[in-house]
Amino acid sequence: MRVSGSTPEVEAMGAVAQLMASDDLGVLIVRVDGVIDYANLAACRVLGTEPLAGQRLQALGPLSDAEDRPLALQDFTAQVLDENRPINDLIVGVCVQGDRRWLRVHVLRSGAAGEGPPRLLLLLLDITASRQQELSMFGRFSQVLDAAPVGICIIDEEGRFEHVNPAYQQLSGYTAAELVGQLLTLVVPEEARAEIAERHRRFIETGQEPRSEQQLVTRDGKPRVVLSESCRISGPDGRYRRISFVIDITARKLLEQKLEERNRELEEMASTDSLTGLCNRRRILDIMHERVEVARRYGRPLAVMMIDLDFFKTINDSHGHPVGDEVLVSFARLLKSCARDSDSIGRIGGEEFVLVMPESTAEGACSFLERLRTECARLRFSAKGLRLSFSAGVSIYAEGDNVPSLLRGADKALYAAKGEGRGRYCVSGQSPR
Ligand code: GH3
Ligand code: MG
Ligand code: MG
Repeated sequence: MRVSGSTPEVEAMGAVAQLMASDDLGVLIVRVDGVIDYANLAACRVLGTEPLAGQRLQALGPLSDAEDRPLALQDFTAQVLDENRPINDLIVGVCVQGDRRWLRVHVLRSGAAGEGPPRLLLLLLDITASRQQELSMFGRFSQVLDAAPVGICIIDEEGRFEHVNPAYQQLSGYTAAELVGQLLTLVVPEEARAEIAERHRRFIETGQEPRSEQQLVTRDGKPRVVLSESCRISGPDGRYRRISFVIDITARKLLEQKLEERNRELEEMASTDSLTGLCNRRRILDIMHERVEVARRYGRPLAVMMIDLDFFKTINDSHGHPVGDEVLVSFARLLKSCARDSDSIGRIGGEEFVLVMPESTAEGACSFLERLRTECARLRFSAKGLRLSFSAGVSIYAEGDNVPSLLRGADKALYAAKGEGRGRYCVSGQSPR
């Protein structure tokens, strides 16, 4: 409320007087030589000394800076008294009767316009409570870092370790003292260093990096595989930091590799005929589906043939099943040696074989069978020196064909070849040769 006859100046003076009487805000008026002219009650209380007036600023007792490092008194007074350095927001720790207190200090200088020599106005705000809370939170945060079961490291913009937790130290084999200040590429295999440095640069720029598997080399040179995920934070100096969370997955990777190998073996077993090592029925049919699809889509030639050994039952009956098996294995070997690498061969029944021959026309299939017939006639099978002949039926892919129609065609042709007395082959729709 405006007192009658008051001016804005008088009102402002009143406000200042109220401020000086405040319980929360310490006010000091200090001469440039450091002698305190005036201190309000709040200042006396926060600095733990009364009266303050007449004392020197230099007598305030041990001080510390915002990072809780000792701050030499002369540095503090030099800062406060240096009129070329305005101070807006200085955080200072003071020791009051053995207790640490934190103050936020603002310094104002009275202009030359006032009476007498210039004075400094120091406003002191006691921020001990919030600061302690901050520090205890930081304490708790570092406890969490230390207790975390995953490796955590803080890396600065240049890619240097700033902090590594015990789990990271254990994983890498380096102590914190050995890592802090070193480039993160220290723990990266040499061939990956340039890429990792570049990724770090990009991460600092964008704050984005997907979770990834990375190679790490421990202090004693052992390779490890780690899963790493990072987040970007802003440090107290306004510069970015990368916090990486790292899990050692080396053992899991080895297990995965073993499982993959085992799966490959199982797949191989599931698709192979154990007697001859050729494809089994399921596998050769799968291959046939793929080849038919290529032939249909790109109009490429494809031949499918069925081969059946002649009078095989007689071999079994006369010489026993094991000899029959031996003959089957030898014949399979002969088929492989006569066919191209791009041909697929399967055993689909006792002594029945299917060949899938991409890029083969009827002429190609016939010349293969001629060769096979010549070789088969020349060879003696098993230790018993048995002779062997076969019959074959061929079908050639034509538009509209599919796996069953091709197999039906080949089977019919085979039947025709058998009917003509065996030891022959027949291309579907033609006469046996
Ligand atoms: P054809 O000239 O008409 O083909 O006469 P074949 O005797 O070859 O035909 P058949 O189908 O009557 O006989 C096939 C024989 O193959 C009957 C079976 O004992 C034998 N067999 C089937 N699977 C195997 C096998 O895995 N090992 C052995 N040793 N023989 C087998
Ligand atoms: Mg048969
Ligand atoms: Mg047969």
